[in-house]
Amino acid sequence: MSDAFDLIVVGAGPGGYVAAIRAAQLGMKTAVIERESKLGGTCLRVGCIPSKALLESSELYEKSAKHFAERGLKVTGLELDLAQMMKHKDGVVSTLDAGIQGLLKKNRVERFSGHGQLLGGGNIEIRSDSGTTRISGKRILIATGSVPSSLPGIQPDGDRIGTSTEALAWPEVPQHLVVIGGGVIGLELGTVWRRLGAKVTVLEYLPRIMPGIDEQVAAEARKIFEKQGVVFRLGTKVTGVSVAGTQCTVSIDGAEPLTCDRVLVAVGRKPCTDNLGLEVAGVATDRRGFIQVNSSYQTTASGVFAIGDVIGGAMLAHKAEEEGIACIEKMATGHGHINYAIIPAVVYTEPEIASAGANEDALQAAGIRYRAGKFAFAANGRARAAGHTDGFVKVLADEATDRVLGVHIIGTHAGELIHEAAVAMQFGASSEDIARCCHAHPTLSEAVKEAAMAVDKRAIHS
Ligand code: FAD
Ligand code: NAD
Repeated sequence: MSDAFDLIVVGAGPGGYVAAIRAAQLGMKTAVIERESKLGGTCLRVGCIPSKALLESSELYEKSAKHFAERGLKVTGLELDLAQMMKHKDGVVSTLDAGIQGLLKKNRVERFSGHGQLLGGGNIEIRSDSGTTRISGKRILIATGSVPSSLPGIQPDGDRIGTSTEALAWPEVPQHLVVIGGGVIGLELGTVWRRLGAKVTVLEYLPRIMPGIDEQVAAEARKIFEKQGVVFRLGTKVTGVSVAGTQCTVSIDGAEPLTCDRVLVAVGRKPCTDNLGLEVAGVATDRRGFIQVNSSYQTTASGVFAIGDVIGGAMLAHKAEEEGIACIEKMATGHGHINYAIIPAVVYTEPEIASAGANEDALQAAGIRYRAGKFAFAANGRARAAGHTDGFVKVLADEATDRVLGVHIIGTHAGELIHEAAVAMQFGASSEDIARCCHAHPTLSEAVKEAAMAVDKRAIHS
């Protein structure tokens, strides 16, 4: 067994590798175990980054095919080279993987390749094709993330019936793609393949898309995506999928089956804890399998901590990163804090959808009285110039104190605009604070200012 480490991190996703770097910065002798050949976890290998590479590329394709002409740009002979688009995506992933390798090296974090399994008492076994080794640490941090869920009667086959992982690498554009689940993955990857030429039908169990997102924003998004060509069937219960050759048949409760050539199952994700040795180590999980932690990210086993997707909550890369840093800082200094009320969430469709803080449903459920200010991008000069006039900004402020409680944006670059709101909320700003802050003209950010002004019914351009 090699020398004891101060900290062993299992899983090198955005939670794990960031935690390892912070631990090393704070003087801990740190090891990271990762079973995949690339670092960066779901986020870098099969999540945030490859999906955004394909969203960017497919947007360029759709713009040049359909929207350049109205700006006086004639494109002839435009062709889709899907293999090259995938190669570009893979190149982005490899470059960032190399970046993380470099960061671990620079910070003297020791990397172990293989599957890590807790043996109890600070010991971990690492298995790989090249053999088995054991290491020990004073503390262990589990950051093993999540994997796609499926449904009874549906067995993703890695080909015709895919999860997000396969849908990021299909070798040809489906003719008809059926997406099961109208959540974030369904809409982002449905958008990619629609732009590249697929007919896309989204089957969603609930009567609305994107549960968790402000209802007015979700309704607006649905209208816009329908205009773009996506077909939604809400309140639809899928009971099974069968495959014959290249054809898939999707069975639906109480309706005719649907036929298509590819199915994307996007109904959520579950914690990744296979053969992790949780029972042996005394680490308890909840009934859905998420590891239980206290406010210091300590599990039920002494010296074993957990962060990121594997502990549940918002399954977001930046939430995992923040938890990694807060967990390590609490270990090292006793202090570490995350404001869970203001974790931004972004859906990278066009228009983008972004939020920070509470939505109207949550405020109403909590009995909090609030005022809402709304401003449409159609009245924003920069949005007009760019030709992106869909959507709006909505600011929710406490009726008594005017403190901003939530901001919801559907519009181009919403994912960048939301951080003004997040910073303002972090500092306890009122809607008047945002409204009185001079915003450069012409910018999309002026829509945030105008929405803040609208809380007090004094927006100028609406
Ligand atoms: P992960 O990133 O899942 O990393 C866990 C790592 O642990 C993996 O590398 C795994 O191989 C490794 N591991 C597991 N078990 C073991 C073991 N026993 N031994 C060794 N290694 C092990 N989030 C966003 O914030 N923005 C986005 O735009 C976004 N887009 C997404 C798009 C898609 C298609 C998907 C699927 C997810 C997306 N997410 C996005 C979610 C984001 O990827 C996750 O929230 C994030 O990766 C969680 O980080 P993590 O470190 O907790 O776990
Ligand atoms: P999700 O929870 O966003 O959406 C799943 C959808 O499937 C929901 O609308 C749900 O009602 C629906 N559903 C569940 N069971 C169903 C059934 N039987 N039939 C039809 N519909 C059903 O989950 P996801 O889209 O799989 O994404 C997983 C996680 O990955 C999310 O938690 C998300 O945070 C993360 N992610 C984030 C981003 C981002 O931040 N931009 C992008 C992709 C993924």
